[in-house]
Amino acid sequence: MMMKCTEATQMLSERLDRKLSTKEKLSLSIHTAMCSPCRQFGEQMKELRDITKVYKDLNNVETKE
Ligand SMILES: [Zn+2]
Repeated sequence: MMMKCTEATQMLSERLDRKLSTKEKLSLSIHTAMCSPCRQFGEQMKELRDITKVYKDLNNVETKE
């Protein structure tokens, strides 16, 4: 049974903050392989995470001086 999109998107955002179990990773990769909206969501979450990280780094550099 494939997970629902709501579960998949929730897991995609959670995996940035916690480690998913092997079972969760498997269900998620099956879902994203078959569902392009969730795949895109996952990529956007990753990009957003990277942007946030860069932004934080920039702020840290500024506050140090
Ligand atoms: Zn989906």
